[in-house]
Amino acid sequence: MTIADGILYYGNEDFNTIFYLLLNNFIQGSGIEIGAIHHPTIVPDGVTVTYMDLFNEEEMESIAVEKSKYGFVHVDIKGNANIMEGVNDTSQDFLILNNVFEHLRNPLLFLKNAARVLKKEGILYLVIPDLRYCPGGEKERPETTFEHLFEDLEAGLDTNDEPHYRESLIYSGVSEPEKLEDLIERSKKNEIHFHLWTHEGFIDMITRFKKEIEDSFELVVSANLGAAIVSILKKV
Ligand SMILES: [Zn+2]
Repeated sequence: MTIADGILYYGNEDFNTIFYLLLNNFIQGSGIEIGAIHHPTIVPDGVTVTYMDLFNEEEMESIAVEKSKYGFVHVDIKGNANIMEGVNDTSQDFLILNNVFEHLRNPLLFLKNAARVLKKEGILYLVIPDLRYCPGGEKERPETTFEHLFEDLEAGLDTNDEPHYRESLIYSGVSEPEKLEDLIERSKKNEIHFHLWTHEGFIDMITRFKKEIEDSFELVVSANLGAAIVSILKKV
């Protein structure tokens, strides 16, 4: 395997201890990891993982989604994570999104479909950055509101990318208008953080999803480990 096995995420041993403790306690059976690219999550022995991404390995190489000296994980299912088309209802023991949820264009639509494909008591394992610890100017970005996400949900697969790219680039330090337009155009192939949350904001989003959209998950654990927030949601 040419993949970088056992990467120490964030180079932080405490983070890794808790990351793998939760993973080993909750991940079993067979499920899907979305967006592994070149760093598939190391799962316990006996667990079967199917890999899903918007692009297959050849396409990742050609558009350089993320340059890698390790090569890319084999993509078993090419598809849109927001809807997981082709993944049967109540078919999965788990879904893993390791630093991927913040790149989704429609997080609430994803949560609805995660609830659709997971078996009862199936696990959604999410690792996201905390907005306040994002590098550079991005930590100054406004936190994504539930109202914004609700508008994205209503747009379905027709969400408007442009304001997301604009916001991401502005907070990355691009200020000249011509340069901004040019960069927005050129960055369309590159994934950005479409949405960002603090730990409190993430918990509030899940709480409102349960109250206002569908009560399909129990939030079992959500730990802010500084560099990232690790959360376990169980399908009810
Ligand atoms: Zn959005």
